[in-house]
Amino acid sequence: MRRERPDDRGRFGAYGGAFAPETLMPALIDLERAFVDAWEDPGFRGDLAGLLADYVGRPTPVYHAQRLSAQLGLDLWLKREDLAHTGAHKINNTIAQGLLTKRMGKRRVIAETGAGQHGVATATACALLDLECVVYMGVKDIERQALNVYRMELLGAEVIPVTSGAGTLKEAVSAALRGWVSSVESTHYIIGSVVGPHPYPWMVREFQKVIGEELQEQLHETPDVIVAPVGGGSNAMGIFFPYVGDSDVLLVGVEAGGFGIETGRHGASLGEGSPGVLHGAMTYMLQDDFGQVLEAHSISAGLDYPGVGPEHAYFKDEGLVRYVSVTDEEALSAFHRLAVTEGIIPALESAHGLAWIIREAADLAEATVVLNLSGRGDKDVQQVAALDG
Ligand SMILES: *Cc1c(COP(=O)(O)O)cnc(C)c1O
Repeated sequence: MRRERPDDRGRFGAYGGAFAPETLMPALIDLERAFVDAWEDPGFRGDLAGLLADYVGRPTPVYHAQRLSAQLGLDLWLKREDLAHTGAHKINNTIAQGLLTKRMGKRRVIAETGAGQHGVATATACALLDLECVVYMGVKDIERQALNVYRMELLGAEVIPVTSGAGTLKEAVSAALRGWVSSVESTHYIIGSVVGPHPYPWMVREFQKVIGEELQEQLHETPDVIVAPVGGGSNAMGIFFPYVGDSDVLLVGVEAGGFGIETGRHGASLGEGSPGVLHGAMTYMLQDDFGQVLEAHSISAGLDYPGVGPEHAYFKDEGLVRYVSVTDEEALSAFHRLAVTEGIIPALESAHGLAWIIREAADLAEATVVLNLSGRGDKDVQQVAALDG
């Protein structure tokens, strides 16, 4: 069954917990206390709801994609998180954690970022709420995502290059956790997904579940299938959670199949990984026989992560959500398909969800299918142009 909150040890079944350095434990306990207190406070809820409405632009629309529905022989609806301010669902979480930072009396925020999307969403919230903002980013990502680095700087954030390892997201999270240890009195760490030590997976789920709650109000029927891409798992958790346990709805999380599962170069932590501890939580992760973390691969930077939120690990074992994968190639093809049939350029992450729907269309005939369109694809246009060229 679905759990409203993790157990006393911060676990969802066997997964989650707080595998963190001793120096961070007081901060994690304070954070849990502050979150519980804020979440029960109508004042905090009201402030957040106001910003989500007037600043982020919520509720995001649910759009009936009629041309693509006709082509696929099913009824396709898009939950338009791409229309949220900054172009993806990530802002739902960063605004809420920004408000919580102020409530805790802290003035400084740190965050990690891969492609830069969470960094931009965090820098945006910090500009809005007058918080100092420092973003850790791997050197390889800084090179690949120069425009997002400049965006964060425009928004007043400082970007700190992380040189260790492959210079990507995994190293950026580790560096941010280390940075937090040395500044925990003054600083809050805004994690970008439903990952990390307790209470983050639970708290970020609570901040993202507004997506599914809106859908319940907007779509005047229970859909047959809800599909979302899974990187760390926050947009999927957000749209799934209100429906988890409802046996009328099939929930499908789509992971990055990269070059193909058989090549070993993918980001399918749930499909192909095994339980282990990554970034403070017990969860499914990509690891070798010695427990060393393997590098993920995906065309989509947001899905290029060797772990996944622990509550998804729990859902997988309980059979509450089905986890599948599609390849880079399938995602790229879906990216083009949505652009030409509906005039919407999706994020490559979101294109993974659509690719699964396209592949399974025959089995989904006549079904009402909702895709969480987690973000817009403007950030990916240059990369796709280079690949197509
Ligand atoms: C970051 C990102 C994702 C992946 O992160 P989740 O935590 O799995 O949601 C998916 N889509 C978009 C548009 C993103 O920016």
